[in-house]
Parts: sequence; C-alpha cells; structure tokens
Amino acid sequence: MYDVIIIGSGPAGLTAAIYAGRAMLSALVCEKDYMGTGQISVTDRVENYPGLYGINGYDLGEKFREQAETLGAEFYEGEAENFEKTAEGWKVIFKDGSVKEGKTVIYTAGTSYRHLDVAGGEKQRISYCAVCDGFFYKDKVVAVVGGGDTALGDALYLSKLAKTVYLIHRRDEFRANKALQKRVAETDNIVPVMSAVIKEVTGGENAEGVTYTQNDEKKNIAVDGVFCAIGSVPNTQALEGVCELDESGYVKAGEDGITTAKGLFVAGDVRTTPLRQVITAAADGANALSSAEKYIMEL
Ligand SMILES: Cc1cc2nc3c(=O)[nH]c(=O)nc-3n(C[C@H](O)[C@H](O)[C@H](O)COP(=O)(O)OP(=O)(O)OC[C@H]3O[C@@H](n4cnc5c(N)ncnc54)[C@H](O)[C@@H]3O)c2cc1C
Repeated sequence: MYDVIIIGSGPAGLTAAIYAGRAMLSALVCEKDYMGTGQISVTDRVENYPGLYGINGYDLGEKFREQAETLGAEFYEGEAENFEKTAEGWKVIFKDGSVKEGKTVIYTAGTSYRHLDVAGGEKQRISYCAVCDGFFYKDKVVAVVGGGDTALGDALYLSKLAKTVYLIHRRDEFRANKALQKRVAETDNIVPVMSAVIKEVTGGENAEGVTYTQNDEKKNIAVDGVFCAIGSVPNTQALEGVCELDESGYVKAGEDGITTAKGLFVAGDVRTTPLRQVITAAADGANALSSAEKYIMEL
C-alpha cells in the first residue's frame, strides 16, 4: 500500500509527488496518457512561470516529471475510474480493471477542452490544439473560436503559420489578459470577428466554412480549418458520489485540498479555485501533499 496515490501527472500531481519524495512518503503517480505531463505540454511558450521565462510547455512538464522521478516517485499508466473507501485508506480502480491501494489519494486530473456544440461540430475536423495541428495550416485561412487567454494565444501562434486567422468571439470584447489583447491588435493577419455566434461548421471531412450570426445577420466565412478554445470542463466523472462537487463539476475544497471525503485530497485546475495556471496548480500540489502528510500522521 502506498502512502499517497496521485491521480494525474500535470503540474499539480507532479509537484505533489516532489513534495511526497521530500517527506519520505511513497507515492504512485497514475496518468492516463503515456508519459503525460498535463495541459501545459501543448503550449509552445510559457512566459509567466517564475525563473523560466519563455520556456516551452513540453520542456517545463518534462522538468517537473524528471524532478518527481529523481525524488523517488513511481509512475503507473492507467485511467482511474472509481474510488472506494476501505478501512486502511482508498482503493483506486482503473479502466482496465487493475486496482491500486493507498492510505490517501490526491486527485489532480485537471480539465478537458469544452467542445464546440454546433451543427457540423462533431463531424468536421475541429482542432482543440493549435500547437499540435497548426503546422497543417501553413499559408491557409483558419478560424479560432473563443475570447480568453487560450484563444488569443492560439491565434497568435497560428498567425505565424497561417495566411489569415479569423478570431471569432461571441462577445464584443475579449476576456483575455491585456498583454495578449495588445499583441493580437498589433498582428496584421489576425482579424477579430466580434459579437459573432457560431451556428455551423460547414464542409466535408475538413472544415470549409463557418456560419455565424452577427447583429441578427447570418454570415459565412470560408476557412480551411477551425480551432476551438472556448473553455474547459473538470475531469471529475470518477468522483461523482465520492466527494462534493460544485454546480460546474469542480471539486469543492480550499487551498489545503481537503475534500468532503476523508483521506481524499484535491489539487490544481480540478479544484474550486479563482486562478487556473501552472503556478497555482503546483502550489496546490504542495499544499495537498502537506494535508495528506498530516492526515497520515494522525492515522
Ligand atoms: C493551451 C494552453 C495554454 C496554457 N498556457 C499557460 C501558460 O502560459 N501559463 C500558465 O501558467 N498556465 C497555462 N495554461 C494552464 C495550465 O496548463 C494549467 O493550469 C495546468 O496545467 C493545470 O495543471 P493540473 O496539474 O491541475 O492539471 P492538468 O495539467 O490538466 O493535468 C491533469 C492530468 O491528469 C490526467 N488525467 C485526467 N483524468 C485522469 C484519470 N481519470 N486518471 C489518470 N489520469 C488522468 C490528464 O491526462 C493530465 O495529464 C495553459 C493551458 C492550456 C490548455
């Protein structure tokens, strides 16, 4: 039995593993994606993580993982599907039927992309990762849907590859931070399309156009590709009925990561928190491990 079973190896999970190593606790980090390091791995440039200005997101994730490994964390590839409280701690049941047991669990499964729920949205080729798929749209015309940090970051990234980037947002102003908004405004081949509500993505296997309404007028633009960045949803299906979630599905907990289920802690983007970033996820991982350590000492 492990002292701590950590679900997810993004910044929160890997930081919890680093702190477990320092606290001489045995930790098993369970991750559904092969060698995954969470959402940050698909970002080409991270400018706000202290001390590592401009680092590539994949490299940052690798650094976290290497540090956790160096400090003794064990890794397991598997998707946690169920949690059962036992007399000794917790049983984690994985999708393939395997079971791991720990005195405590730290749940750091993060969030997933919110899908574009419009006609054609399911059958057309909509990308949710500009860094992964941008290369296929060199010198082409693309649309980015969304108005937050991720959407504007994606538009800037794609503007270096594509001929034109339509940035389609349903409100009349962007939600993204001012620095990103300034860079977008200064980029000639990004064309903001404001107050536009997407109705349909047209085309065959590949997207060929986007139909939207703007001031009650129906319009269409021809594009070669559509990228979507309209927010995220918490990966908490496995916790339904296990601990309390808020109305959007995030795990209810304070900075200490203590949930309503004894011995099950939470950290990172999946927690009710005002800011979802690498630094807050990492801090959360440290706090949750500290709570788990105190809990184990009192067992
Ligand atoms: C495109 C993009 C750009 C970003 N840019 C920045 C930036 O510049 N600066 C910044 O600070 N933040 C940025 N962020 C936000 C940052 O990536 C997140 O806040 C951070 O990764 C959250 O870490 P986490 O560990 O909580 O969750 P995640 O990074 O989401 O990691 C969760 C991990 O859990 C795994 N998992 C999920 N369910 C299960 C399961 N059932 N069983 C096992 N494993 C599971 C997932 O595969 C994943 O690896 C960006 C995010 C995106 C999407």
